[in-house]
Order: sequence, then structure tokens, then C-alpha cells
Amino acid sequence: MFVTAALPYANGSFHIGHIMEYIQADIWVRFQRLLGHEVHFVCADDAHGAPIMLKADSEGIAPEELVARIAAERPRYLQGYHISFDHWHSTHSPENTRLSQEIYRKLKAKGLIETRTIEQFFDPVKAMFLPDRYIKGECPVCHAKDQFGDACEVCGSVYAPTDLINPYSTITGAAPVMRSSEHYFFKLSDPRCRDFLAQWTGGGRLQAEVANKAREWLGSDTAAEADEADPAADGAPADPQADTLADWDISRDAPYFGIPIPDAPGKFFYVWLDAPVGYLASLMAHCARVGLDFESFVAPGDGLTADGLAREQVHFIGKDIIYFHTLFWPAMLKFSDFKVPDHVFVHGFLTVSGEKMSKSRGTGLSPLKYLDLGMNPEWLRYYLAAKLNSRVEDVDFNADDFIARVNSDLVGKLVNIASRCAGFLTKRFDGTLAEADPATAQAFAGGWAGVDAISDLYQQRELGKAMREIMALADRVNQFIDSEKPWELAKRPDQSERLHRVCSDALRAFRDLALMLAPVLPATAAKVGAFLNQDGATWASLREPLPAGHRIRPYQHLLQRVDPKQVDALFAPPPDQESGPAAGPAKAAAGAGAAGAEGAGAKTATAAAATTAATAAGGAPSGMDSGTGIIGIDDFSKVQLRVARIVSAERVDGSSKLLKLMLDIGESQPRQVFSGIAAHYDPADLAGKLTVMVSNLAPRKMKFGLSAGMVLAAFGAEDEKGIFLLEPHAGASPGMVVR
Ligand SMILES: [Zn+2]
Repeated sequence: MFVTAALPYANGSFHIGHIMEYIQADIWVRFQRLLGHEVHFVCADDAHGAPIMLKADSEGIAPEELVARIAAERPRYLQGYHISFDHWHSTHSPENTRLSQEIYRKLKAKGLIETRTIEQFFDPVKAMFLPDRYIKGECPVCHAKDQFGDACEVCGSVYAPTDLINPYSTITGAAPVMRSSEHYFFKLSDPRCRDFLAQWTGGGRLQAEVANKAREWLGSDTAAEADEADPAADGAPADPQADTLADWDISRDAPYFGIPIPDAPGKFFYVWLDAPVGYLASLMAHCARVGLDFESFVAPGDGLTADGLAREQVHFIGKDIIYFHTLFWPAMLKFSDFKVPDHVFVHGFLTVSGEKMSKSRGTGLSPLKYLDLGMNPEWLRYYLAAKLNSRVEDVDFNADDFIARVNSDLVGKLVNIASRCAGFLTKRFDGTLAEADPATAQAFAGGWAGVDAISDLYQQRELGKAMREIMALADRVNQFIDSEKPWELAKRPDQSERLHRVCSDALRAFRDLALMLAPVLPATAAKVGAFLNQDGATWASLREPLPAGHRIRPYQHLLQRVDPKQVDALFAPPPDQESGPAAGPAKAAAGAGAAGAEGAGAKTATAAAATTAATAAGGAPSGMDSGTGIIGIDDFSKVQLRVARIVSAERVDGSSKLLKLMLDIGESQPRQVFSGIAAHYDPADLAGKLTVMVSNLAPRKMKFGLSAGMVLAAFGAEDEKGIFLLEPHAGASPGMVVR
């Protein structure tokens, strides 16, 4: 099997939505491995496209450097959550270039590529064609200002970017001009594509609701001019008026961070062309690394490989990218003579207490903070498994439910079995198991007949149902222990044999439960394997009870309960920190409350202010949130900025990071602000200088006193560390409004 999860866009860190998808796919993959299947589970960073190019520009670094920085973060999350990818690659790789160009050449040879000249807005300052997302202007209908190029958020009108009044580029603010350019199209409207897709989408490879959606697109209302940074929420590109499957614009003009189109100088593949090819590129790199025959995995047809093995190609994706994976991708593969996907498994979004995740607001459940707090990743794996099903439904994370379910199921039901019985075996019976009692086996048998049902549920990704079935078996075992009361048997010398049998049978059942949960709880299952002295158990081991005389090891603690305090801490706003902001690039605020400076106010203050909109403009082809991070003037206006005179600056006893600043902004008293700049400034150099402060930031009580604002500074990237306070040009005076 060749299994993938959606490629994350490499302009930002993983959010919890990525982690949910990886956990879902990882559980399925681990289950397949437990059955004895050979699985190659790969993924990659989706590294190309305008948002990454512009973000790197705004940081003054090469896109490769940005992508490398993001890639370096990935292992911490993947290892942290026990995600067992065999290989992690990048779409910015020789393999992907080779495969993308090969696919393009084959499509071209089949007459499925054509060129057309299209008119498009062009930013004369940045000298680049503008994706719709980077154009704003006045709504032609209601005259609301600062509306996007495709639709008005105020009156809901839909229009073309060319209809905007006084359009401007959100990258430079310049008025865009119309320019024509030759674009390359993949002819999805070709009857060959339509016929193939009608067959492929109907072949039982897709969930019913996904197949319906795909057939709807195929049938009538489809256009393929998917916007660069904004796959619409349900994956359907705009323009519901078109009445055929439209051809797909696969080219972008330089400057673009992407793969060059062969024999077409200055033209690059649109990021969505080479992103899914990244699945194959990652597999290719993996095959080269471990000595597998890549060609045999991707050769067309559904038959057997030369060595007689059946092959399956399975993609796990979110519901926002169905369109790309059920139309473009299979068609690209089919007509470039590659194997087509056997399954595309689609999941819904993750909400937290009913609210959709927002990357731009940075709210929700931080996967890294979860790990940093020492919370067990298997708690989350189990909780998500208990909530997931095979449908395209959203999953809600509810903190109370999380605590209750993990504590009651994993600790109260599962671990409880071992902790109640293992000690007697070790102390009284030298750790060896008694002969299995046929009567007990019989008592469990009704439940154990469910093993095949549980196997089917895993196979069908009905994880919630599988967890419920397993916990029902655990209930049965606990009832058995409750009725046999080994702790009372232990007090009666004449009941020694029965005690031995009861504990042995309970432990056999525990082994089976842990094995059935192994895809969800791999680390716990490994601990259980060590404790029971049985490594390498597979799903087939469920048919082989641990034999009489088998010796277990002394019981070791297996799993902690969730402490509600940890969950409180997980969702608590960042505490006041004396350390100031993390010295990451694109963070632009120094001082109190600036740690993880995610606020709009902070972003607007980067040195390259004109390009900061692009910094946040995270086009997220495979992400949960298609928000661009671009804010309207109303959002910006919420941040009150004033010129401040630094009346005094002094070091803070007990802090190596903070300076205490007294700031005059024309008020009756100077404001006290603590700022994390001590490592970069001598206080004596600051007194009397002007800078810029956020004057309407809620005051924060810090260890050293109240901090009533925040001064703004530019931050160097990793290789050019430094913090540089902003200073107005000569002539500005304290209290002046900055806007
Ligand atoms: Zn309007």
C-alpha cells in the first residue's frame, strides 16, 4: 500500500487540523501493518506558490530558506504524536521536478494541453501578475472599500476583479494594470477526461457524499479557475455559472516559486499542479532510500505487481480539497500513464468547543503547547479516534469530554484491568499464567466474537464505533474482575488456584484489548508488550491466547490520568512572560504581552510594512483555513499607535531580558512599559529617544509591575539576530498618532 496524508503548505507550522488528519491516517496505517500488509506511508511539504514567495520576500529571505525553516519544525510534531510516516519529502525537490515535467509532457503528447492568452491584473511595482486574492478595491455595487477581487464581504455581491472601483494590489498598494499573458491549460473538458472521471468517481472508491459532490461537478456546474490562495471552503472553485467541466489553468508567470514548464520560458506550474505530484515524489525518494521498485507502485492498471502483490494507492485529505483530489489529480495520473488512486478518504474539520479553527487568529488547540505541557499524545489519539467516523463530518474537541473520556476509558477501564490483577501474579505465582479457564473464555466469547467486527470497523475508518466496541469488551472484563474479587480471593489460602486463574484470564483479555488498541495507542501497546513479555504481536495473535506457564514481567505504570489543570493550561492565554517575544522572524513587537506576537498590531509594524499583508497571506492549499491573514483597514484602525518619548529606561532586577521604560505620549503621566529588549540595548542609549508604542493595549500585570503598552521593533531573522526599535523621522513629537 502507498498511503499519503495531504501535503501541508510550507508557509507555517502545523495546526491541530493537520495533526488530526495525520492521526486518522496513522491509525489506519498502523492497523494495516498489524494485519501484515506492507504499507509505505509518505508525505511532504507543499513548498511552492505565490504565498510562500511573497512571505519569504517580506522576510528578506529566499523561499528555499523559509521552506527549510518550516521543514525543520516538522519532526517535533510528527514524533511527538507518534505519526509513523516512512518518509517526509518536499515538492521543491528533483524528484518532483522530474515527475511534474514528465506528467506535463505526457499530457501534452496526448493533446490535453493548450495555451490561451488571458488578461489579468498586473502589479507594476512588484512586476508580477496578481492572483485575485491580492487585489482589493471598492465594491462596484455597495461601494464598500477594501473588498476582495472576487466578492464583497459587505453586500455579498460576486464580481470579477476588473469590476472593482479603484483596485489596488495588496502587496504594494499600487494600482494594477491589465496585461495579457499566455497561459497553459489542462483540457479537462476533453471527452476523454470526462468519460474517465465519470467512471472513476463512480467506482466505489469514494465516500458516498464525496462521490455525489464529484459527480455534481462533473455534471454541470464546474469551473476550474481555482484561486491561488483560496480553495473555497468546500473545495469548489468559484463560478457556478459554467456549464461544463472547465479547463484548468496550470501555469503562472514569473516571478513565481515553482517548477519551470518545459519549453516555456518564464512560465511555471501553478502550485496545485505540482503539489499532488509531491505524493509520488515522496514515494520515489522513499523507494530510492529503502531499495524498492518505484515503477511497480505507480504503473497503470489495478493488477498485480511482478512479485504477485496487489497494490493500493490511498489518500487521506480534508474536505476543503476534494475538488483537486477527485478531478484534477486522477485525470492527471490517468492520462500520463500512472496508476490512479484506489481511495481518497475525506474527513471533516476539527472544531474546538464548536468553533472552527482560525490560523490567523491563532486560537484553538496548539499541538506544540499540548506536547510542551507534557500531555500524553495518546490521550489525543484516543479521543480523536473515539470521535472519528467514515463520513465527512466535523469533529469537535470538547475539553470536559476529553478529560472524561480519556480518564474513564483508558485509565478506568483499560489500565485498571492490569493494575488490579498483575500484582497477584507477580507476587504469588512467580509471574506465570495459569491454564485458561474454559468457562471464563466462554464468558468472554460472546464479546470476543466481535474481534472481526472491530477489524471491519478499523478497515472502514469507523474508529468511534471500534473504540466503543473495544470499551464494551473492557467493561465485560472489569465485570468479571468485580464479581471474582481477586483481592478477596487473595486473603483465602484455599482460593489460591482460583486467584491464579482469574488473574491469568483477566491478563489474557487485557493483552487482547491492548492489541486491539495498538493502532491508536502505539506507545502504550509497546509498554504492554514489554510487560506481558510478548513483543511483535499482530492482529492474528488475537487468535492465540497467551499459553499457560507464560511469564510476565512486573507491572509498570502504563498511563496517567488527564489532569484538568493541564487542559486549563492548554487553553489559557499565554502567560505574562519576562522573556519577551520569541526571536522569530516576522514578529514585530517587543515588550509586555508580545510573546508570540500574533496580533494585527504587531504584524503591521514589521519594517517592510508594505509587504506584511503578504506575510500573513497564507494560502493553504491543504490547510484547514483558507483565510489569507489579510486584514481590512478597520482591523488595523483598532490598534492605536503613538509616538512616544522614552523618558527613562532602566534594567529590571531579577530579569536579564526586560527593560523598564517610562514613555511620554502626551498624557499627564508617563506610561510604564516592560519591554524584552535588554539584551540589545543599553538603557543609557535610550533615554530621550523617540519610538512608537501601541497605546490601547490592555495593561498587563507582570511580575515586576504593570505594563501599560508595548513598543514596536523590527526583528532580525535567524541568521541576523537583533531587535531594532522603530524611531520616527525628525520632527515627530510625543503623542502624535501613527496611522
Ligand atoms: Zn458590496
